[in-house]
Amino acid sequence: MPLHPHVVKRFDELKAIRTHLHTCPEIGTETAGTVAFITSKLDEYGLSYEAIGENSVLAKVDGKAPGKTVAFRGDMDGLVTQEETGLPYASQTDGRMHACGHDGHTTTMLALAQYLSTYRDFDGTILLLFQSGEEGYGGAKKVIEDGLFEKYSIDLMFGYHNWPGEDPDKIIVHQGPCMASEDRFDIKVTGRSGHASMPHGCIEPFAAVADMIKAAQTIIPRKVSAHDKAVISITQVHGGSAYNIIPDDVMIRGNVRTVDGGVQDCIESSLATVVDGVAKTYGVEAEFTYYRKHPVLMNSTPELAIAAAERVVGKENVLTNVLPAMGSEDYAFFMEHTKGCFVWVGNGENSPLLHNSKYDFNDEAMLTAASLFIELIHDVM
Ligand SMILES: [Zn+2]
Ligand SMILES: [Zn+2]
Repeated sequence: MPLHPHVVKRFDELKAIRTHLHTCPEIGTETAGTVAFITSKLDEYGLSYEAIGENSVLAKVDGKAPGKTVAFRGDMDGLVTQEETGLPYASQTDGRMHACGHDGHTTTMLALAQYLSTYRDFDGTILLLFQSGEEGYGGAKKVIEDGLFEKYSIDLMFGYHNWPGEDPDKIIVHQGPCMASEDRFDIKVTGRSGHASMPHGCIEPFAAVADMIKAAQTIIPRKVSAHDKAVISITQVHGGSAYNIIPDDVMIRGNVRTVDGGVQDCIESSLATVVDGVAKTYGVEAEFTYYRKHPVLMNSTPELAIAAAERVVGKENVLTNVLPAMGSEDYAFFMEHTKGCFVWVGNGENSPLLHNSKYDFNDEAMLTAASLFIELIHDVM
């Protein structure tokens, strides 16, 4: 079936919901206002729900007979940035904006909720997760820590992100990694301070810092296979306070992205080796801390999404050879606990990029995504 007629029929109502959410973005896990709006809609649809994580909501819809449990996730937080779209429904709060389209993802979930309240033509249980704090606030982790997978034996989970650069009739399904891991690191280099005119009496940290940064850049070409994708970026160097003082400490910070857990391990251990080796050479102390922020988002059931997508938008509009993004997505944590898939739906060929101050969610992407999810329900339940 192409776009599902039930969601197409409700397009004006969905647009009204989406543009309303666009006016009132909330940040991180402080999504109480959005949650109040969502639960008022779930009440209207007669669906039961529970609070989970930190200001996230889980709606539950039982079908006509017992069966699989399938979850869908939409994120709902905005970003700390000033909107410059000039739209009539632009954010009413200065410095906050739905610049990643989570207003659209939330509305898609409400479209699905309304559909399921009307048609319980499936077996099993459907969970709809409205998740806070995707934009770096640990929202998914909090939902998992609150027992999502202990309470429910979830067989499959699906989610999507809108994707600028393709039109909304395009669905992109990655057969394997979809989005990169994100790791962060700190290297605190400690020498011994003193007068700039007498470095021989100090342990000058900057030469070691310069070599550590240079050596870190050799890890990808030398340790990671040319066939693998990875990025190491040094993003901060802090140290020193005067022209004539050699400081005690310098802090280096950086960011690592990969689409392979093995490469991630290799980069972590190679950075540790570089830091240790350079520190010994220069006689400085170096404290290396590596934080794993997001795992690789790995699709384990792309074939399900591809089959359903082909029916919704046609085989020629399902793109399966698109490279994974080096950005990360906290949906990746869910894929460590169950099988499933995260797809991209086009947001328009000329759409401004995600997180751009002129970005806006393309409402037509909701029709594609909701239709895809309905097809998936019919396929797997
Ligand atoms: Zn984002
Ligand atoms: Zn996003």
